[in-house]
Amino acid sequence: MDVILVVNAGSSSVKFRIFKSDAPGTLRQLISGQVDGIGVRPRLKASGADDQKLVDRSYDATDVPDVETAMRTAGAWLRREQNLHFVAVGHRVVHGGPHYDRPVLVNERVVADLERYVSLAPLHQPNNLAPIRVLLERFPDMPQVACFDTAFHRGHSEVAERYAVPDALYAEGVRRYGFHGLSYEYVAERFGELMPERAGGRTIVAHLGSGASMCAIANGRSVESSMGFTALDGLPMGTRPGQLDPGVVLYLLSEKGMSAGAVQDFLYKECGLKGLSGVSNDVRELLDSAEPRAALALDYFVYRIGLYAGYLAASLGGVDSFVFTAGIGEKSVVLRSRIAEKLAWLGAELDRDANGRGDLRISHPDSRVGMFVVPTNEELMIAKQTVATLTAGGYAGAAVKRTA
Ligand code: AMP
Repeated sequence: MDVILVVNAGSSSVKFRIFKSDAPGTLRQLISGQVDGIGVRPRLKASGADDQKLVDRSYDATDVPDVETAMRTAGAWLRREQNLHFVAVGHRVVHGGPHYDRPVLVNERVVADLERYVSLAPLHQPNNLAPIRVLLERFPDMPQVACFDTAFHRGHSEVAERYAVPDALYAEGVRRYGFHGLSYEYVAERFGELMPERAGGRTIVAHLGSGASMCAIANGRSVESSMGFTALDGLPMGTRPGQLDPGVVLYLLSEKGMSAGAVQDFLYKECGLKGLSGVSNDVRELLDSAEPRAALALDYFVYRIGLYAGYLAASLGGVDSFVFTAGIGEKSVVLRSRIAEKLAWLGAELDRDANGRGDLRISHPDSRVGMFVVPTNEELMIAKQTVATLTAGGYAGAAVKRTA
């Protein structure tokens, strides 16, 4: 069967999805899976469209030591045991640098170009590029599309994109990029389909998952983001601190004698809800905990979301709609309710029953600012962008014939 493979590769896991296009403009998810525990306790797991388990297989750490072998393992299972032929592959790539403002068909030159942004996203970019290289080498004719987390934000105004640093740094790429763009683009599109009368308005979307950020969207386009140069900025996250005075980094380097690598690990892995609570990075565990610092971590999270709502509302000159998405935003009735209290001054009034049910609209009918829950689907966005890029590039015919 001819299908589209979507790959989202991180440092310890390679997640994949299989989509099939039954008719032009439609995409149906057939398989969702991942290889996790790479180099430690590798395990291939996948399930089908109705959640039935298709495979759960463990490997020796030496057989799957890195992202490349994880990609080969998943690919071999999909081709040989599921009898699937990839007509195209879409990849999540965290950083498209200053120039990629849309998905791009990958070739050796593009990969070399994207390598230049490894220094801008050292924890993510190398893992994102590894499966692309494996597939380029093994199936050079198979179309691959890189879909960027930064691209949706590339239309920001210059004042939104700049830091107040000398121009030379801006020219070499030190700018406010913004991330979670695949999620925001999906949610903006979906919100427009579900609430067409609001699509042209001023919308704040809160992507609240283990990574968390907020985005100001005017007329369907991103105009401002809580994130900046890296995915460390903005809201506190599971293990990242969010906004931090750069003086704290100087203090860690000069007074604590930490190396740059140690500071990087600390900021990506030991801060945020985990660091503040000393309990967990998971909101569910913090809600269940009797530890006062767990409560403080949640208070801080809610408080900072309220602050950023004001910041983004200022960028939009007001706000018409506030949309929750990602793990916490989609599932936590309690946190949505607490965040809504912080938005009251903007004119947002929650409908408690609708919030409890997790309806699309969770604000009171009289609320001046509408509040909504729109589940995100970054993988479907990647599949859509992949098809659109190939179609635009005249690849549609070739994609149906090519197999891997
Ligand atoms: P994501 O990164 O979008 O998959 O979101 C993962 C995060 O969502 C987890 O770390 C949890 O903190 C949070 N989460 C998932 N389910 C719930 C829930 N029912 N209540 C509160 N938080 C949740």
